[in-house]
Order: sequence, then structure tokens, then C-alpha cells
Amino acid sequence: MKRSMTLTYEVGSGLYINITNKCPCNCTFCIRNNGDGAYGSDPLWLEHQPTAEEIINDIKKRDLSKYSEVVFCGYGEPTCELDILLTVADYIKSVSSIKTRLNTNGLGNIINKRSIEADFRGRLDTVSVSLNAPTKEEYDEVTRPSFKDTDCFAAMFEFAQNVKNYVGEVMFTVVDVIGEEKIELSRRLADKAGIKLRVREYISG
Ligand code: SF4
Repeated sequence: MKRSMTLTYEVGSGLYINITNKCPCNCTFCIRNNGDGAYGSDPLWLEHQPTAEEIINDIKKRDLSKYSEVVFCGYGEPTCELDILLTVADYIKSVSSIKTRLNTNGLGNIINKRSIEADFRGRLDTVSVSLNAPTKEEYDEVTRPSFKDTDCFAAMFEFAQNVKNYVGEVMFTVVDVIGEEKIELSRRLADKAGIKLRVREYISG
């Protein structure tokens, strides 16, 4: 039996958009690694890669005026499907003045093999980048990226700094389970870059 896929879902006052399952990381705390491990039974696991049209048709069923923001998030890394992300963001901006946010691992430049920051001008209001850890070593341990010969920590950091030129607000996030000491070091690092740090609550499946 073909089950319907969850392309949009509500979290608090936001409307979340689930673009793709793809991600080059394998974070130890990722919700994909929690739960019962059986993606097929999880409503956010996409059975096929949706097209921009499918996602837009799903958004059309929603009343955007009900929400405080639209968030590109979901079960994978949205910049893995950059064209879809941009097309959907264009659609949202063409029909509504609602704020748009991207939650990203910040590796979009490596994923797309080019600098993508300028693509977000006029399309996103906020970019939230997962800093995850205060050092490259700890970052690699936690995120386990598949790009072995690349300094992903540096690439993520550079992306966050560059994207400030194109969107209204950029923030870094860490999950609270990394502990006070690492949170403080992360905060100092974020401060140096002039980027706000948000400490997210760890959600286990
Ligand atoms: S970057 Fe996000 S989607 Fe990818 S493994 Fe980490 S937490 Fe999961």
C-alpha cells in the first residue's frame, strides 16, 4: 500500500517543510538514528524524493497566514536538494510575506561544489547553522561527515559567516547534551564570528 508522505508539518507556530532524506552527515544525535530505526514506519521518512511541485502543492493546502514562519528542515539536509529548496522558497515569497528559515548543517557549499550563499538573497530571512561542537575534532566525532578529506568544520563556519551578507539573521545551534563547558566554548566561538548561539534541547526518539 502506498502511504502518503509528510511534506509539511507543524511545530509550534511554524510550518516545517520536509525536502529530502539525503544528508552527508551521520550525527550521533540525529533523529534519524533514534526512534525505532525503521524509517518505513516513520511519517517523516520520504519514500521517494519529492519534486518542488509536489511540495508546493502540499503548501497550497495550508493557510500560510496561520503560521509565524516557514522552516526548511525535515529529516535530511535541505541543501542536498538546493534547486527544490530555492524553487519552493520562491513560491512562498511570491504568495506570502511570511518569514522563511533554513535549518542546515552548513555544508551546502561542499555538497553543491560551489558557493551557494548568494542564492538565499530574498528567499530566506534566517539561516540556522548547526555548529554542534567548539572544535574540528569534536565536530567530526559528533557529525561523522562522509567528506573525509575536507575540513567540514571550517567549511561550515565559513558558510555561516558568508551567508550573513545575504540574509537578515544567522544563528548557530548546539544541542544541550554537549555539556556546559562545550556550550560556553561554542558561545565564545560564535561571539567572535558575531553570530548568535542558540542552545537546542536534545530530542531523543
Ligand atoms: S546534519 Fe542533520 S539530518 Fe544530517 S545527520 Fe546531522 S542531524 Fe541528521
